[in-house]
Amino acid sequence: MKKLKVVILGATGMVGQRFVQLLAEHPWFEIASLTASDRSAGKPYAEACTWRQDTDMPESVKSMIVQPSEPNVEGSVAFSGLDAGVAGEVELAFAAAGYGVVSNAKNHRMAADVPLLVPEINPDHIDIIPIQQKNRGWNTGFIVTNPNCVAVPMAMALGPLHKRWGVEKVFVVTMQALSGAGYPGHAALDIIDNVIPFIGGEEPKVEVESNKILGTMANNSFVHADFRTSAMVNRVAVIDGHMLSLSIAFKQKPSVDEVKQTLREFTSEPQQLQLPSAPIPPIVVRDEDNRPQPRLDRNTGNSMGVSIGRVRECPLFDIKMTVLGHNTIRGAAGAAILNAELLKAKGYLD
Ligand code: NAP
Repeated sequence: MKKLKVVILGATGMVGQRFVQLLAEHPWFEIASLTASDRSAGKPYAEACTWRQDTDMPESVKSMIVQPSEPNVEGSVAFSGLDAGVAGEVELAFAAAGYGVVSNAKNHRMAADVPLLVPEINPDHIDIIPIQQKNRGWNTGFIVTNPNCVAVPMAMALGPLHKRWGVEKVFVVTMQALSGAGYPGHAALDIIDNVIPFIGGEEPKVEVESNKILGTMANNSFVHADFRTSAMVNRVAVIDGHMLSLSIAFKQKPSVDEVKQTLREFTSEPQQLQLPSAPIPPIVVRDEDNRPQPRLDRNTGNSMGVSIGRVRECPLFDIKMTVLGHNTIRGAAGAAILNAELLKAKGYLD
């Protein structure tokens, strides 16, 4: 199969570097160009980017010249790891110019005609794309987003349960990794021996995104799921891997065993379509008392799987559990790549 040429927007950042790492050997996509800010444009990628991944920078990108983030670069699909301060406008410009934009940024996530996609949970939401193109007067271009790095594992845990028993309300406390703040993130003296109980703008995102993801499509628009979420977020001294303590109330109460079995047996379109980045199984349910843990479990399913443990009765709500996902892979670059694979499999990138 001839590979599809792609551009990475914001290629020098934490998420951009993950895109480079994950796309360098991708069977369907080939990196054709890299963009960043004017600070980096014009330099070879190896010079513009301070590489902070745990594998070497791929040879194929080292001498690529970083371009300004303008829609005249080689590639038909644009993966966006842009800073949210600029992502909104830049992504619109790329979509208007005909690129399929697959974004990590928050800017367009909640727009009424933009899919907020977790391919295992709401793959049908991509069918809004023709409506989006009509609304905005775009021919081939479009924007698809992936959720916030907490909302991805949260939606993966809630999705299969919501379908069977109806989620009524959710209380979530997060322990979020440092890489979620980009580089350099917090100063060492602020985060070592410490927990910071605030991440700017995070709680509102966590409190609304799952409702869109777990919602349905009717009459060419999204109908959001009607449960309520209360989120309390914390930054902890972990490099990668966001952990969530979830308490869930259901419309019809399941047993602990039913919840575990439903999560264990869950499989969906990315697995059936054998998308290259789809984790098999998508959810790993652990029975040990002390799992999941970021260091031990963040790389489950090539870092695309979600680990769930400590499923038990909740004295306040119905069921509580601990959920873990790799924030820069399953919650960011890997999520966007899986979105693009689904788009390709469904003919949206032809
Ligand atoms: P980052 O490390 O700060 O990288 C930001 C990127 O945007 C860099 O490539 C930077 O280029 C580029 N950029 C900044 N200003 C620009 C401008 N004016 N014009 C063009 N490009 C510009 O941030 P990050 O952590 O990778 O996050 C990137 C996006 O993903 C954000 O929207 C973030 O909210 C979202 N996200 C992050 C995570 C995570 O776990 N980190 C998870 C989910 C979503 P230069 O190097 O040239 O400055």
